[in-house]
Amino acid sequence: MRKILSSIFGVRSLESDVVIVGAGPIGSLAALHAAKKGIKVSILEQRKEIGIPDHCAGLLSVNGLTILGLDNLPRNIIQNTKIKGAKFHSPSGQVFSIKRNETQAYVINRTLFDQFLKQKAEKVGVNYLTNKKVLDANFDRNNKKLTIEYLDLKLKKKKQHTSMVGIIASGSKRKIPRDSGFKQISNKKYLIGYQYDVENISDLDINMIEIYVSNKLAPGFFVYIIPTSQTSAKVGLASRLKSSIDQLNHFIQKHPIVKDRFVKSSIEKKYSGRIIINGLLKRTSSNGLLITGDAAGQTKATTGGGVITGGIAGTIAGKIASDSILAQDNSKGFLKKYDDLWKKQLLSQFKSMAFFRWCVNRLTDKALEKVFETIIENNIADLIVEKGDIDSQADVLRALLRHPVIIKLGIRVLPLLQF
Ligand SMILES: Cc1cc2nc3c(=O)[nH]c(=O)nc-3n(C[C@H](O)[C@H](O)[C@H](O)COP(=O)(O)OP(=O)(O)OC[C@H]3O[C@@H](n4cnc5c(N)ncnc54)[C@H](O)[C@@H]3O)c2cc1C
Repeated sequence: MRKILSSIFGVRSLESDVVIVGAGPIGSLAALHAAKKGIKVSILEQRKEIGIPDHCAGLLSVNGLTILGLDNLPRNIIQNTKIKGAKFHSPSGQVFSIKRNETQAYVINRTLFDQFLKQKAEKVGVNYLTNKKVLDANFDRNNKKLTIEYLDLKLKKKKQHTSMVGIIASGSKRKIPRDSGFKQISNKKYLIGYQYDVENISDLDINMIEIYVSNKLAPGFFVYIIPTSQTSAKVGLASRLKSSIDQLNHFIQKHPIVKDRFVKSSIEKKYSGRIIINGLLKRTSSNGLLITGDAAGQTKATTGGGVITGGIAGTIAGKIASDSILAQDNSKGFLKKYDDLWKKQLLSQFKSMAFFRWCVNRLTDKALEKVFETIIENNIADLIVEKGDIDSQADVLRALLRHPVIIKLGIRVLPLLQF
């Protein structure tokens, strides 16, 4: 296919038809779907090895993986196949649980997951170029070609890569290639998340993740314990505070409810990374370029999770990029189909989650206690079990906001909100 296109349209001088910046899960999914139609796809990745270092809790919904066509992940990638629900803890220790009978989510090893996606993409011909740090992306309107400038980190030399279409999937690092023309996600939309792999924790329930909300501990987010076995877990925290890492240490060592469970524990690994909350870019296509995944802010404002939602958008980006090559049209008019399609599938979800996050961020600890009280007294957890979905949260959030008990609660907590 590539040879035929090259000879007909004279694109022989290009290094690839589609080039992707960043070999995270979203870049690899975009590459995989772009290459399926037989066009030449390359990925430029600054790291030496794909997926290293890891920066993710790896909690992925079973439904989401199925949507991405990844329901048959190799067993060695999955650390826990049994997540059925979550236990929510208020600042003072009130608890409610949401649990289903079937597994709702897997905990995966992100390094192995990213490497698995790379292998899948390589099987359909994607060319991975590591140690290449992209600096710039320029679209030439006259010859309708995209030139990517990158630094070859091994040779310590600047080089160029030309193609028809580029997909930026460079993750949550603040800098995206300079001249790409896309908006940078504002610093205010980021939280820094810290996470430890911890062994020898007592009283873990392998079926349940634990969530702790508290303005003192983690304003703007929460603390999580995600079990990977009966005695080990990923324990993480993000917040608006600069001292989030101290907050995580404080949680493990001093939190009145959990500290005893960590007495014999040991921290095996530490990670940190940027979590994007409400950073969605409105415009994600231009002449010869698309932007996707964390780089486009396509994460859930409720949890910061972005593998499934970004994966859906990245898949669309890959398909539209390859369609554009086959149609010989890399104009912004053609590529806007990507904007239209991901927005059709995800925008109302993102908006509902953003609104929910906005509301939760305004709850003082006193108001949070009232919310927990109401949920527990009125069995609201049952409604969440009935309508909830880890990735598509709009339905349950709408149902909650229309529930008479929640409307009454809203009126009661109004004086307790923080602005
Ligand atoms: C602590 C923490 C826990 C999380 N837990 C979860 C979770 O449980 N579930 C979930 O769904 N999400 C989670 N997330 C979010 C999730 O990690 C991201 O949404 C996901 O990694 C986005 O994938 P991506 O491919 O867009 O970006 P990334 O995974 O960040 O990949 C981007 C790639 O681009 C490369 N790159 C960047 N700049 C350049 C450049 N200039 N040139 C070349 N290469 C470049 C990077 O090296 C990287 O390999 C978590 C995030 C954090 C920080």
